[in-house]
Amino acid sequence: MSHRPKDTRPSAHKQQRRARGFALIAVFLLIVLLGAAGALATLVNAQQGRAPLAGDGGPGTVLDRIAPREPEEPEDPRAADLALDPGKKTEWKFDGTGKKTVYLTFDDGPSDNTPRVLEVLDRYGIKATFFVTGHEPDKAPYIKDAYDKGHSIGLHSMTHNYDQIYVSEEAFFSDLEAVGNMVKEQIGYVPYLTRFPGGASNTISANYCAGIMTSLVEDVQARGYQFYDWNVSSADASGTNVAVDTLVQSSCVEGYTNVMLLFHDSSTKDTTPDALPQIIEYYQERGYAFEPVTREAFVCHHDVNN
Ligand SMILES: [Zn+2]
Repeated sequence: MSHRPKDTRPSAHKQQRRARGFALIAVFLLIVLLGAAGALATLVNAQQGRAPLAGDGGPGTVLDRIAPREPEEPEDPRAADLALDPGKKTEWKFDGTGKKTVYLTFDDGPSDNTPRVLEVLDRYGIKATFFVTGHEPDKAPYIKDAYDKGHSIGLHSMTHNYDQIYVSEEAFFSDLEAVGNMVKEQIGYVPYLTRFPGGASNTISANYCAGIMTSLVEDVQARGYQFYDWNVSSADASGTNVAVDTLVQSSCVEGYTNVMLLFHDSSTKDTTPDALPQIIEYYQERGYAFEPVTREAFVCHHDVNN
Protein backbone atom coordinates (compact mmCIF):
# COMPACT_ATOMS: atom_id res chain seq x y z
CA MET A 1 0.00 0.00 0.00
CA SER A 2 1.25 3.27 -0.88
CA HIS A 3 2.29 5.45 1.89
CA ARG A 4 1.01 8.90 1.49
CA PRO A 5 3.16 11.21 3.48
CA LYS A 6 1.25 13.11 6.04
CA ASP A 7 0.25 16.39 4.61
CA THR A 8 1.90 18.96 6.90
CA ARG A 9 0.53 22.03 5.02
CA PRO A 10 -2.41 23.69 6.61
CA SER A 11 -5.66 23.09 5.01
CA ALA A 12 -7.28 25.84 2.91
CA HIS A 13 -9.72 26.52 5.78
CA LYS A 14 -6.93 26.96 8.28
CA GLN A 15 -5.14 29.35 5.89
CA GLN A 16 -8.29 31.47 5.54
CA ARG A 17 -8.78 31.64 9.35
CA ARG A 18 -5.17 32.67 9.89
CA ALA A 19 -5.43 35.40 7.22
CA ARG A 20 -8.58 36.75 8.90
CA GLY A 21 -6.71 36.72 12.23
CA PHE A 22 -3.85 38.80 10.83
CA ALA A 23 -6.32 41.22 9.25
CA LEU A 24 -8.14 41.68 12.56
CA ILE A 25 -4.86 42.31 14.40
CA ALA A 26 -3.80 44.79 11.73
CA VAL A 27 -7.11 46.67 11.98
CA PHE A 28 -6.84 46.61 15.77
CA LEU A 29 -3.26 48.00 15.65
CA LEU A 30 -4.35 50.68 13.16
CA ILE A 31 -7.16 51.76 15.49
CA VAL A 32 -4.72 51.89 18.42
CA LEU A 33 -2.21 53.88 16.36
CA LEU A 34 -4.86 56.35 15.13
CA GLY A 35 -6.13 56.76 18.67
CA ALA A 36 -2.63 57.44 19.97
CA ALA A 37 -1.98 59.94 17.18
CA GLY A 38 -5.25 61.74 17.97
CA ALA A 39 -4.44 61.87 21.66
CA LEU A 40 -0.98 63.22 20.87
CA ALA A 41 -2.45 65.93 18.62
CA THR A 42 -4.88 66.95 21.37
CA LEU A 43 -2.04 67.10 23.89
CA VAL A 44 0.11 69.25 21.60
CA ASN A 45 -2.81 71.61 20.95
CA ALA A 46 -3.54 71.83 24.65
CA GLN A 47 0.08 72.72 25.37
CA GLN A 48 -0.15 75.52 22.80
CA GLY A 49 -3.23 76.82 24.59
CA ARG A 50 -5.44 76.29 21.60
CA ALA A 51 -8.54 74.13 21.39
CA PRO A 52 -8.31 71.66 18.49
CA LEU A 53 -11.21 73.27 16.68
CA ALA A 54 -11.96 72.97 13.01
CA GLY A 55 -11.45 76.31 11.26
CA ASP A 56 -9.01 77.54 13.88
CA GLY A 57 -7.28 80.47 12.25
CA GLY A 58 -3.83 79.28 13.30
CA PRO A 59 -1.32 80.63 15.78
CA GLY A 60 -1.97 84.17 16.98
CA THR A 61 -5.73 84.19 16.50
CA VAL A 62 -6.56 83.65 20.14
CA LEU A 63 -3.79 86.00 21.25
CA ASP A 64 -5.26 88.71 19.02
CA ARG A 65 -8.67 88.23 20.64
CA ILE A 66 -7.38 88.72 24.18
CA ALA A 67 -4.83 91.45 23.38
CA PRO A 68 -5.41 94.56 25.59
CA ARG A 69 -7.27 97.44 24.02
CA GLU A 70 -5.62 100.77 23.32
CA PRO A 71 -5.23 102.71 26.61
CA GLU A 72 -8.04 105.27 26.95
CA GLU A 73 -7.90 108.79 28.41
CA PRO A 74 -8.52 108.48 32.16
CA GLU A 75 -12.00 109.73 32.94
CA ASP A 76 -12.52 112.54 35.44
CA PRO A 77 -16.14 112.51 36.61
CA ARG A 78 -15.59 115.71 38.65
CA ALA A 79 -14.67 117.68 35.53
CA ALA A 80 -18.27 117.42 34.27
CA ASP A 81 -19.50 119.12 37.46
CA LEU A 82 -16.71 121.60 38.13
CA ALA A 83 -15.74 122.80 34.64
CA LEU A 84 -16.82 126.25 33.44
CA ASP A 85 -19.80 125.67 31.14
CA PRO A 86 -21.90 128.78 30.35
CA GLY A 87 -24.66 126.59 28.84
CA LYS A 88 -25.11 124.51 31.98
CA LYS A 89 -28.24 125.03 34.09
CA THR A 90 -27.60 124.71 37.83
CA GLU A 91 -30.09 124.93 40.70
CA TRP A 92 -27.89 127.10 42.92
CA LYS A 93 -28.46 126.59 46.66
CA PHE A 94 -28.50 130.24 47.79
CA ASP A 95 -30.60 129.31 50.84
CA GLY A 96 -28.32 126.45 51.91
CA THR A 97 -28.43 122.67 51.67
CA GLY A 98 -30.39 121.96 54.87
CA LYS A 99 -27.65 119.57 56.03
CA LYS A 100 -25.05 120.47 58.65
CA THR A 101 -22.02 121.05 56.44
CA VAL A 102 -18.70 122.88 56.75
CA TYR A 103 -16.94 124.10 53.62
CA LEU A 104 -13.31 124.82 54.52
CA THR A 105 -11.95 127.31 51.97
CA PHE A 106 -8.32 128.43 51.53
CA ASP A 107 -7.55 131.61 49.59
CA ASP A 108 -4.32 133.01 48.11
CA GLY A 109 -2.33 129.76 47.67
CA PRO A 110 -0.60 127.70 46.60
CA SER A 111 2.21 128.41 49.06
CA ASP A 112 4.83 126.70 51.20
CA ASN A 113 2.00 125.89 53.61
CA THR A 114 -0.15 124.02 51.05
CA PRO A 115 1.44 120.61 51.84
CA ARG A 116 0.87 121.22 55.58
CA VAL A 117 -2.81 122.04 54.99
CA LEU A 118 -3.19 118.98 52.76
CA GLU A 119 -1.57 116.76 55.39
CA VAL A 120 -4.11 117.82 58.05
CA LEU A 121 -7.06 117.36 55.67
CA ASP A 122 -5.72 113.88 54.76
CA ARG A 123 -5.31 112.96 58.41
CA TYR A 124 -9.00 113.70 59.03
CA GLY A 125 -10.10 112.31 55.67
CA ILE A 126 -11.95 115.48 54.69
CA LYS A 127 -12.20 117.54 51.49
CA ALA A 128 -11.93 121.31 51.14
CA THR A 129 -11.66 124.04 48.50
CA PHE A 130 -8.67 126.11 47.36
CA PHE A 131 -9.26 129.49 45.68
CA VAL A 132 -5.89 129.93 44.05
CA THR A 133 -3.69 132.72 42.72
CA GLY A 134 -0.64 133.06 40.48
CA HIS A 135 1.51 134.46 43.31
CA GLU A 136 4.03 131.65 43.29
CA PRO A 137 4.22 130.01 39.85
CA ASP A 138 6.79 127.42 41.00
CA LYS A 139 4.22 126.09 43.50
CA ALA A 140 1.49 125.62 40.89
CA PRO A 141 1.93 121.79 41.00
CA TYR A 142 0.42 121.91 44.51
CA ILE A 143 -2.85 122.77 42.74
CA LYS A 144 -2.79 119.40 41.02
CA ASP A 145 -1.77 117.68 44.27
CA ALA A 146 -4.79 119.18 46.04
CA TYR A 147 -7.14 118.34 43.18
CA ASP A 148 -5.91 114.75 42.94
CA LYS A 149 -6.64 114.31 46.65
CA GLY A 150 -10.30 115.20 46.00
CA HIS A 151 -10.34 118.90 46.90
CA SER A 152 -12.08 121.46 44.69
CA ILE A 153 -10.04 124.15 42.95
CA GLY A 154 -11.54 127.62 42.50
CA LEU A 155 -10.24 130.81 40.88
CA HIS A 156 -9.26 133.71 43.15
CA SER A 157 -7.01 135.98 41.07
CA MET A 158 -3.84 135.80 39.01
CA THR A 159 -2.29 139.00 40.41
CA HIS A 160 -4.53 139.79 43.41
CA ASN A 161 -3.67 143.47 42.83
CA TYR A 162 -6.81 145.48 43.62
CA ASP A 163 -5.52 148.52 41.71
CA GLN A 164 -5.19 146.34 38.63
CA ILE A 165 -8.18 143.98 38.63
CA TYR A 166 -10.84 146.47 39.83
CA VAL A 167 -9.97 149.23 37.36
CA SER A 168 -12.46 147.93 34.81
CA GLU A 169 -14.53 144.84 34.01
CA GLU A 170 -12.21 144.18 31.10
CA ALA A 171 -9.19 144.15 33.42
CA PHE A 172 -11.01 141.91 35.90
CA PHE A 173 -11.95 139.28 33.32
CA SER A 174 -8.49 139.38 31.74
CA ASP A 175 -7.02 138.48 35.15
CA LEU A 176 -9.70 135.82 35.79
CA GLU A 177 -8.94 134.25 32.41
CA ALA A 178 -5.21 134.15 33.25
CA VAL A 179 -5.74 132.31 36.56
CA GLY A 180 -8.24 130.02 34.80
CA ASN A 181 -5.60 129.04 32.25
CA MET A 182 -3.01 128.47 34.99
CA VAL A 183 -5.42 126.09 36.75
CA LYS A 184 -6.26 124.37 33.46
CA GLU A 185 -2.57 123.55 33.01
CA GLN A 186 -2.69 121.70 36.32
CA ILE A 187 -6.09 119.95 36.33
CA GLY A 188 -7.13 119.93 32.68
CA TYR A 189 -10.01 122.41 32.69
CA VAL A 190 -11.09 125.88 33.85
CA PRO A 191 -13.29 125.56 36.96
CA TYR A 192 -16.53 127.56 37.31
CA LEU A 193 -16.04 128.49 40.97
CA THR A 194 -14.51 131.85 41.90
CA ARG A 195 -13.99 134.12 44.87
CA PHE A 196 -13.50 137.87 44.50
CA PRO A 197 -10.36 139.27 46.19
CA GLY A 198 -11.86 141.03 49.23
CA GLY A 199 -15.21 139.34 48.62
CA ALA A 200 -18.21 140.75 46.73
CA SER A 201 -18.75 143.15 49.67
CA ASN A 202 -15.33 144.84 49.37
CA THR A 203 -15.21 148.65 49.27
CA ILE A 204 -11.57 148.91 48.17
CA SER A 205 -12.69 148.47 44.56
CA ALA A 206 -14.54 151.81 44.84
CA ASN A 207 -11.12 153.51 44.86
CA TYR A 208 -10.56 152.27 41.30
CA CYS A 209 -13.97 152.00 39.69
CA ALA A 210 -17.30 153.14 41.14
CA GLY A 211 -19.99 150.47 40.94
CA ILE A 212 -17.74 147.73 39.54
CA MET A 213 -18.80 145.07 42.06
CA THR A 214 -22.48 145.67 41.23
CA SER A 215 -21.67 144.87 37.60
CA LEU A 216 -19.28 142.00 38.30
CA VAL A 217 -21.61 139.96 40.53
CA GLU A 218 -24.05 139.85 37.59
CA ASP A 219 -21.51 139.38 34.84
CA VAL A 220 -19.43 136.57 36.33
CA GLN A 221 -22.65 134.54 36.64
CA ALA A 222 -23.70 135.47 33.10
CA ARG A 223 -20.40 134.00 31.89
CA GLY A 224 -21.04 130.69 33.68
CA TYR A 225 -19.00 131.28 36.84
CA GLN A 226 -20.40 131.26 40.37
CA PHE A 227 -18.76 133.22 43.17
CA TYR A 228 -18.56 132.11 46.79
CA ASP A 229 -18.20 134.53 49.69
CA TRP A 230 -18.00 133.29 53.31
CA ASN A 231 -20.19 133.52 56.41
CA VAL A 232 -17.45 132.69 58.97
CA SER A 233 -13.87 133.98 58.96
CA SER A 234 -10.95 132.36 60.77
CA ALA A 235 -9.41 135.85 61.16
CA ASP A 236 -6.09 134.52 59.87
CA ALA A 237 -5.89 137.56 57.57
CA SER A 238 -5.81 139.96 60.54
CA GLY A 239 -2.03 139.60 60.88
CA THR A 240 1.02 137.39 60.37
CA ASN A 241 0.83 134.09 62.24
CA VAL A 242 -2.24 134.96 64.30
CA ALA A 243 -2.39 132.93 67.54
CA VAL A 244 -3.96 129.47 67.20
CA ASP A 245 -6.46 130.24 70.01
CA THR A 246 -7.67 133.31 68.15
CA LEU A 247 -8.15 131.30 64.93
CA VAL A 248 -10.03 128.56 66.80
CA GLN A 249 -12.32 131.04 68.59
CA SER A 250 -13.10 132.89 65.37
CA SER A 251 -13.74 129.72 63.37
CA CYS A 252 -15.85 127.74 65.84
CA VAL A 253 -19.33 129.24 65.87
CA GLU A 254 -22.87 128.12 66.67
CA GLY A 255 -26.08 128.62 64.79
CA TYR A 256 -25.13 127.93 61.17
CA THR A 257 -26.36 124.91 59.25
CA ASN A 258 -23.90 125.61 56.42
CA VAL A 259 -20.55 127.08 57.41
CA MET A 260 -18.49 128.63 54.60
CA LEU A 261 -15.24 129.15 56.47
CA LEU A 262 -12.50 131.48 55.22
CA PHE A 263 -8.81 130.64 55.66
CA HIS A 264 -5.65 131.71 53.87
CA ASP A 265 -3.01 129.47 52.36
CA SER A 266 0.10 131.64 52.58
CA SER A 267 3.72 131.40 53.67
CA THR A 268 2.96 134.05 56.35
CA LYS A 269 0.12 131.98 57.86
CA ASP A 270 1.97 129.12 59.56
CA THR A 271 -0.59 128.96 62.36
CA THR A 272 -3.51 128.21 60.03
CA PRO A 273 -2.61 124.50 59.56
CA ASP A 274 -1.77 124.39 63.31
CA ALA A 275 -5.31 125.51 64.21
CA LEU A 276 -7.12 123.22 61.75
CA PRO A 277 -7.30 120.06 63.91
CA GLN A 278 -9.16 121.82 66.76
CA ILE A 279 -11.54 123.49 64.31
CA ILE A 280 -12.25 120.25 62.44
CA GLU A 281 -12.87 118.34 65.69
CA TYR A 282 -15.21 121.07 67.00
CA TYR A 283 -17.51 120.64 64.01
CA GLN A 284 -17.15 116.85 63.83
CA GLU A 285 -18.28 116.59 67.47
CA ARG A 286 -21.40 118.58 66.53
CA GLY A 287 -22.35 116.32 63.65
CA TYR A 288 -21.19 118.41 60.70
CA ALA A 289 -19.97 116.88 57.45
CA PHE A 290 -17.09 118.46 55.52
CA GLU A 291 -17.57 118.94 51.78
CA PRO A 292 -15.64 120.55 48.92
CA VAL A 293 -17.50 123.27 47.02
CA THR A 294 -19.42 121.83 44.06
CA ARG A 295 -22.61 122.80 42.21
CA GLU A 296 -24.47 121.03 45.07
CA ALA A 297 -22.94 123.30 47.72
CA PHE A 298 -24.35 126.26 49.61
CA VAL A 299 -23.75 129.48 47.66
CA CYS A 300 -22.83 132.26 50.08
CA HIS A 301 -23.13 135.83 48.71
CA HIS A 302 -22.29 139.03 50.56
CA ASP A 303 -24.23 142.21 50.07
CA VAL A 304 -22.53 144.42 47.52
CA ASN A 305 -21.19 147.78 48.75
CA ASN A 306 -19.82 149.21 45.53
ZN1 LIG B 1 -7.26 136.83 48.67
